[in-house]
Amino acid sequence: MSKHVANDSSPADATASVEGRPSREEARDAVRTLIKWAGDDPDREGLVDTPDRVVRSYEEYYSGYGQDPVEILKRTFEETNGYDEMVVLKDVEISSHCEHHMAPIIGRVHIGYLPYKSVVGISKLARIVNVYARRLQIQEKMTAQIADALNEVINPRGVGVVVEAAHHCMTTRGIQKQGVMMVTSRMLGTFRSDPKTRREFLGFIGHALGKAAN
Ligand SMILES: [Zn+2]
Repeated sequence: MSKHVANDSSPADATASVEGRPSREEARDAVRTLIKWAGDDPDREGLVDTPDRVVRSYEEYYSGYGQDPVEILKRTFEETNGYDEMVVLKDVEISSHCEHHMAPIIGRVHIGYLPYKSVVGISKLARIVNVYARRLQIQEKMTAQIADALNEVINPRGVGVVVEAAHHCMTTRGIQKQGVMMVTSRMLGTFRSDPKTRREFLGFIGHALGKAAN
């Protein structure tokens, strides 16, 4: 039963079919409207297939809505065999879209946790990141969601998540500040209560969080 679910790469999740979701055709029409709004002709040769490409890109950019992090993590429980030291996954590339401008958020996420009874495969951690990155987001919320999901499902002694990212709505439009990175973090359990654990994590990821927070 669970094997069947695991093999299904696109589970029919309730969140995948948001009520009132427009048809593919309507989505393509909306892109045509935006092309016209930008000042171009959606019927010229180079743009004829663009609405379809954009819609298909959206299926990737926003594939996180159809995925359930609990399902992904639940399938990967493993015994720790006594391992009780910190597990850190750093420099995981992350690309998301801000919910204010639908502009790219490009950066890296670092995840650390202290196992209690179970550890989780590295690839699963990366998949959890994508569940939340591939939605319309604000960085603060995404950071918290990743940490909370790990905390709730694998029930570790503590979790830390740090995201550093550039927001294209800042770098390519508006104030056009290049090279500005936004840093957000969420510390739970011993990562929050024990400064030594937090320092160890930040040491692993080579990040001066105290500096970034100010
Ligand atoms: Zn934005």
